[in-house]
Amino acid sequence: EQRQLGRLRGKPTRTLDGAEITLLANAESQEDVAQAHALGARGLGLYRTEFLFLQGNRLPDEEEQFRVYRDTVLGMSGLPVTIRTLDLGADKADRTGLVVGSEENPALGLRGVRLSLAHPKVSDTQLRAILRASGYGPVRILIPMVSMREEILTVRRRLSRLAAILRNDGHEVAENIPIGAMIEVPAAAIALECFIDQVDFLSIGTNDLVQYLLAADRNNDAVAELYSPLHPAVLRLLWQVMDTAQRHATPVAVCGEIAGDSSMTPLLLALGLTEFSLHPATLLEVRRAIREVDLAALRAQAPQLLAARDRRGIERWIAGTARD
Ligand code: PEP
Ligand code: MG
Repeated sequence: EQRQLGRLRGKPTRTLDGAEITLLANAESQEDVAQAHALGARGLGLYRTEFLFLQGNRLPDEEEQFRVYRDTVLGMSGLPVTIRTLDLGADKADRTGLVVGSEENPALGLRGVRLSLAHPKVSDTQLRAILRASGYGPVRILIPMVSMREEILTVRRRLSRLAAILRNDGHEVAENIPIGAMIEVPAAAIALECFIDQVDFLSIGTNDLVQYLLAADRNNDAVAELYSPLHPAVLRLLWQVMDTAQRHATPVAVCGEIAGDSSMTPLLLALGLTEFSLHPATLLEVRRAIREVDLAALRAQAPQLLAARDRRGIERWIAGTARD
């Protein structure tokens, strides 16, 4: 089994009818980066930066962050690296005092981009480090927990100001760094049309999107049964996001855990996704799943999938595609 998967290392990620699917990696350590590169990921689709803030009880300074981001960019040898700005808060609590420990409802509190905007100095330090790393290879910047247009505009304004200062000080900063938003708050998915002109790409974070859409905590065992991507509301919302993005020719990846779950691959392909960002350990398995299906046939079955009225109906659709 492992040996069979191993044979897929250098193979293309292409469906039976010849469609190329892009596999990117989620990473947060140098080991992840090395593994992603070795297995043939086309870049990093989600580089989580929280670990830098979770390992000690003080904030990492600009140099420290710059070195880590630069080494990550160099580790991918010219492939794009999507660095997500700080996504602390809620289930990702730190010991630096940045995250308010006393929120009654932290998942709905100051987290992701909200936390960054509330701490401009901390955020600027990170953005400077990312901008400096962009002098060493293709970098994209991904903003987590976006719920509205203004958040993206503010981050964009900050970035241009910081880039000008850095260039003025003699640093090399890439031109036109692609800026993307995570789609993980239902409001952002529903009102995507309102800010899509401000992003160069999108990444759907299904881990949080499912939690917020279904009002079911992603880490609460008592509602683990309810927390499932196989809910008609999730599929309909994904479909709507893909439709809006396609009309605006904006690339979309999915980077939640379902991207690395090969049993979900046919469903995601049917809904129009062609970019997956996943943990490198799951890359070959998902590549195999992609190589076994016909994309046009799956797309043609999207209406049946979207017509399913409950989880069992969706599971039956998945089982049906596995049989064909
Ligand atoms: C997500 O929410 O799906 C996601 C990829 O981000 P994280 O799991 O880091 O919250
Ligand atoms: Mg998330």
